[in-house]
Amino acid sequence: MRERLSPQENRRAWRYAALIVVCLVACVALAWHFTAHPTQTVFLPPTKEAVLDAAQGLDSITIDAVFDPESKQLTATQVMALRNPSGQALDHVTLRSYSGAYLSEATSPVANDELFAASYGQQFSTGGLILDSAMVNGERVQHTWEDDAKTVLTLPAKWAADGEITVTLTYHVNIPDCGSRFGVQEGIFALGNVFPTLAVWQDGAWRTEGYVSIGDPFLTECANWTVRLTLPQGYTVASTGYAEPVRVADANVYTLQAQAVRDFALVISDQFATSAAMADDVLVVAHARDKAVAQRMVKFARQALACYETHYGYYVYPTLTLAEVSFPYGGMEYPRMVMIGAEVIAAQRDALEITVAHEVAHQWWYAMVGSDSYHLAWQDESLCEYALMDYIGRYYGASTRANTAFDRIETAMRITIPRGVTPGSPIDYFQDLTEYSQVVYRRGAALWMALENLMGKDQLDAALQQYVQDFRFGLATRPQLTQLLSQAAGQDLTALMEDYLDTYISN
Ligand SMILES: [Zn+2]
Repeated sequence: MRERLSPQENRRAWRYAALIVVCLVACVALAWHFTAHPTQTVFLPPTKEAVLDAAQGLDSITIDAVFDPESKQLTATQVMALRNPSGQALDHVTLRSYSGAYLSEATSPVANDELFAASYGQQFSTGGLILDSAMVNGERVQHTWEDDAKTVLTLPAKWAADGEITVTLTYHVNIPDCGSRFGVQEGIFALGNVFPTLAVWQDGAWRTEGYVSIGDPFLTECANWTVRLTLPQGYTVASTGYAEPVRVADANVYTLQAQAVRDFALVISDQFATSAAMADDVLVVAHARDKAVAQRMVKFARQALACYETHYGYYVYPTLTLAEVSFPYGGMEYPRMVMIGAEVIAAQRDALEITVAHEVAHQWWYAMVGSDSYHLAWQDESLCEYALMDYIGRYYGASTRANTAFDRIETAMRITIPRGVTPGSPIDYFQDLTEYSQVVYRRGAALWMALENLMGKDQLDAALQQYVQDFRFGLATRPQLTQLLSQAAGQDLTALMEDYLDTYISN
């Protein structure tokens, strides 16, 4: 039974009822907002101690860039604070600016028989970095391109053995119509290996190898990067850093920062749908033309991170970004970032999952632990192929892992490789991408399967965790890795590694 209400009580009841209605409407609106825009509120995790420690005393690279999709051009000013890595007084500084190779058909890494049609279609398209001015310590200097491909840039500099110099470059980058890690195709602009970096100093000289067609022909040391990027509205950037844009006039300005990373890549498009989720304490963001694809990329990347953290130790960076790129490769790794080929996305079955698993493994083997990807491509690629076995084992079971290892690794040991190349060969020994992946990735991974048999899985994982601990943010040599593994195995593995890496298997 209900009492009758006084007029005063009646008014109060109406007020309560109105309040409840307002709250309900607000809840429905909020729920709609979060389901309609699930990726618009993301939490950027703090940078971890290991990265902050590593960032101390590293070189810094600060870039102010404006992107114009109409002219397909990026205009930039880049300031680099560089410590002398040589241990001796120098009269110059040498930088690498790989995009110059795309300026001419004679030097482009994708203008060869294997890649031309897939990259350029019918006709060659020029693009690359055009240097407008260079300064060292505030003084204008004359620059010299040391190679025809314009990838080796030398500037005069009085550089004391323990000194630091400031290099300021102003340049514009013309983006070619090209499906590659550098170029635009189907409205997606990829800018990989575009920002100039300090050349690596090794054994008394700068490393100046060519930007060849096979593999990842570049080598860089970790630095602290800040890229302030202005994009027209409607465009999204995927990058090594992560930031929400700030609206300035009719543009979006991103301040992208990444500490202790060995390179900085961008992918820009006005067609991207975005998906994001946390993987433990890492923000995983994916951009693709199809929202469902972005969601699958996030799912596989989170699974890969969880798997590799268990086996090889934790991922040190706060974010991992994936982006669709229209290029004829499966994927391409950069620090804190992965490019995934549109062909892989279009392919049926498990191509996308396998590619994401491989590329995320590069965050351990390349991004965190660097190695010489020109002369020792096996050192990261074979480990990524091996990591894929761990991924399959975790999510599809031991027998699928064994079957996959047979299909990919055992089979590669049995096929005929027409020339005397081995997993330990430099990338310029290989005649095409198929031969390269069969030998370096798959035959290379046979070494890790053999070590797993020899040492046991737990002990091999412990050794790989030690490898990450000892060499993250640096470059590990082959003798250093051999020594570390030998110590973990309790026996000298030099001969076994030579068997797998340097011995030509004929069938
Ligand atoms: Zn790879």
